[in-house]
Amino acid sequence: MAAVMALLPCRRFGPRKSLCFCSGRAAFLGWRGGSARSSASEAVYDVVVSGGGMVGSAMAAALGHDVHLHEKKILLLEAGPRKATNQLPKSYSNRVSAITPGSATLLNSFGAWDHICSMRVKPFRRMQVWDACSEAMIIFDKDNLEDMGYIVENDVIMSALTKQLDAISDRVEVLYRSRALGYTWPLPYQTCDSSPWVEIDLADGRKLQTKLLIGADGQNSMVRKAAGLQNIQYQYDQSAVVATLHLSEATDNNVAWQRFLPSGPIALLPLSDTVSSLVWSTSHEHASQLQNMDEESFVDSINSAFWSNANHSDFIDTAGSLFRSAVSLLMPSGSVARQLPPSVAKVDLKSRAVFPLGLGHATEYVQHRVALIGDAAHRVHPLAGQGVNMGFGDITCLMHHLSAAAFNGKDLGSLNHLLQYEREQQTHNLSIMVAIDLLKRLYSTSAAPFVLLRTWGLQATNVASPVKEQIMAFASK
Ligand SMILES: Cc1cc2nc3c(=O)[nH]c(=O)nc-3n(C[C@H](O)[C@H](O)[C@H](O)COP(=O)(O)OP(=O)(O)OC[C@H]3O[C@@H](n4cnc5c(N)ncnc54)[C@H](O)[C@@H]3O)c2cc1C
Repeated sequence: MAAVMALLPCRRFGPRKSLCFCSGRAAFLGWRGGSARSSASEAVYDVVVSGGGMVGSAMAAALGHDVHLHEKKILLLEAGPRKATNQLPKSYSNRVSAITPGSATLLNSFGAWDHICSMRVKPFRRMQVWDACSEAMIIFDKDNLEDMGYIVENDVIMSALTKQLDAISDRVEVLYRSRALGYTWPLPYQTCDSSPWVEIDLADGRKLQTKLLIGADGQNSMVRKAAGLQNIQYQYDQSAVVATLHLSEATDNNVAWQRFLPSGPIALLPLSDTVSSLVWSTSHEHASQLQNMDEESFVDSINSAFWSNANHSDFIDTAGSLFRSAVSLLMPSGSVARQLPPSVAKVDLKSRAVFPLGLGHATEYVQHRVALIGDAAHRVHPLAGQGVNMGFGDITCLMHHLSAAAFNGKDLGSLNHLLQYEREQQTHNLSIMVAIDLLKRLYSTSAAPFVLLRTWGLQATNVASPVKEQIMAFASK
């Protein structure tokens, strides 16, 4: 619980404005005193987005698409190369994201979703989540055959966003292979030789200025560090093994599967009728074994992780089945039939990769002329498939406030509307982060009292349709 409390914002919103302008801040943030007023050759942008991953590129595309921002000078800075492909590789990438309908709506609002659909996307209609230590499970699905979400390769999302940015190149300038090396913050008071804007030093020696800097530069965000925005973070005792898997036989394959093993959750996400993507969170040692074992043992380990009942105990099974019978008497219409997961036949060569997992949360998302979005502001365990969706949620919220500010002729870098963005998104993101962290902890044990608690909790939630609908509505934003 202490860890959860630590994620909470450390400051009240009221006094922020004055804090921002205190004289100590410039020194604390590494203000390089004496910065001369910008030369005429230094470009001044209205908005610079630093970091062109999925979140930063989507932010730049949304800014370029907004009618109230058409007159604004917008720049996206990305340290890496341009990521667009005309020819989709035949084999699926091992990096995929479960995209919520809310995120699809955002991507659709500026034309990127059509590009995704013209490349590769797999909708799923159902999610089955179950415990390896008991018979408890929960099934999320929609009565009306609506899509619950979409599994999309990250490369496909990046390619779609890049194509969309190309289409609005008259409104959004993009600099690839351009790393920001440092930022100089405006002085709290104006002097004759100081710039009122954020100054950006690029690795190639160029300097830029901007009225609003949006940090979308990932979990190790330089913008966050340079702005002195505190980040609460810790590493989990788990790494995620990802791989592209071939199923034993073709099926509709429209279910996202996740089983909670005592060592961590294993998920199978559909990509086509015969191909699925693996995200297996487990101890660092086991992850490294999984990455290095021969193909046959790897496939056997996956099938056994989904099918084996080695972690069951008679006591929990009996207590669970008694409770299940009792709740299904009370709510007979609530239960949904359990499905069996597909079996895996093969793994794509060289598709196995390992990622250490951690949690991070910036206690403040904004400062005067600075806002953080995406993993720069928050990093979560992938067990709920929420990381990039939370970043897309940041964009929807920040765009709403920036568009209104532009319409009303306000300064885009002003704290007034940036604070509204922070207040709304921190509340939303924190509730997701706390829920994910608690789930991770609750399922990381095979101790009987905890197994019983979560077994009953899962069974009760599974038959309580209104609760499930609320969870689905919240998680699909
Ligand atoms: C195994 C795994 C599975 C996951 N599955 C899901 C899922 O199913 N659904 C989901 O929603 N999320 C998922 N996530 C989380 C998701 O991948 C991340 O939340 C998302 O990639 C973060 O995107 P971002 O653009 O914020 O950051 P990043 O992807 O880290 O992008 C940051 C960008 O900034 C650039 N950059 C950095 N520093 C600079 C600089 N100084 N100057 C210029 N550019 C710079 C980098 O080159 C990079 O392109 C998963 C994560 C993992 C590890």
